[in-house]
Amino acid sequence: VLYNQVQDLKGTIRVYCRVRPFLPGQSHGQSTVDYIGENGNIMVVNPFKQGKDARKMFLFNKVFAPNVSQEQIYVDTQPLVRSVLDGYNVCIFAYGQTGSGKTYTMSGPDLTTEETWGVNYRALRDLFQISKTRGDAIKYEVGVQMIEIYNEQVRDLLVSDGSNRRLDIRNTAQSNGLNVPDASLIPVISTEDVLDLMKIGQKNRAVGATALNERSSRSHSVLTVHVLGKELVTGSILKGCLHLVDLAGSERVDKSEAVGERNSKLTQVLQDSLGGQAKTLMFVHINPESNAIGETISTLKFAERVS
Ligand code: ADP
Ligand code: MG
Repeated sequence: VLYNQVQDLKGTIRVYCRVRPFLPGQSHGQSTVDYIGENGNIMVVNPFKQGKDARKMFLFNKVFAPNVSQEQIYVDTQPLVRSVLDGYNVCIFAYGQTGSGKTYTMSGPDLTTEETWGVNYRALRDLFQISKTRGDAIKYEVGVQMIEIYNEQVRDLLVSDGSNRRLDIRNTAQSNGLNVPDASLIPVISTEDVLDLMKIGQKNRAVGATALNERSSRSHSVLTVHVLGKELVTGSILKGCLHLVDLAGSERVDKSEAVGERNSKLTQVLQDSLGGQAKTLMFVHINPESNAIGETISTLKFAERVS
């Protein structure tokens, strides 16, 4: 359902493509990415095909080469993130096959080195810091929810007691603007708070899983930042929210799509942030190894259709 909905957004959705580097210890074959242009084009080559058919060119808003830093990725994401403080609803998705770098982009490989922190942490820190600088004109409150959707069940990732309650999704109109009103909503008042939240979220994500990779390939995780601003002079209120979505592996999603309504929970969670005035960005991730070429091409085709 989400994927159909994303199709409906055609034209209003920005697509950035990020190519993962070869990893240490991997057999460094030929990269399937032949060429990355300045204007958002990328050429991939299928090592199992000959001649003209072997090469395909795709066009996106931007393409990031394997050596592009987390910082640089965030610089190109920042304007969208900051628009939340002006009352926009924003959705940022990470799409791609398992192992292509979705979690790396959104969360980073771990939280120990600041340099590799992902979009989630950088966005929260940024929102929080910018909101402070506007403090004379607008008083902001920033709160965060973090959930996981697995087998169409919604789980709170910010519970401190590790409880595993299933959560319901409500219509925003009935629940004071929260689609998942029973998920913990944690106020953020410092950058340390942000890091603490990330740690709890990661820990809870790992707790429920015997094999974390298997689970994360089948589940979506959604970090939602709610921003409430009160203009001090006029008293008027503005509300914005930012959804940061680490999607299930695209190889799973394609198959589950055939099963029907598998993604309906995710669509409900994002109900007020798709379409209309909302802004959407999708990071499409590419694994450059030759044995991934099939998924790489179907991922790029899907992404080009929505952009
Ligand atoms: P996914 O979430 O799509 O399954 P991961 O984000 O877990 O994939 O990435 C798979 C592996 O590749 C991890 O070890 C990760 O640290 C590494 N990786 C992904 N993207 C990058 C990158 N841009 N630079 C360095 N390592 C990366
Ligand atoms: Mg992942």
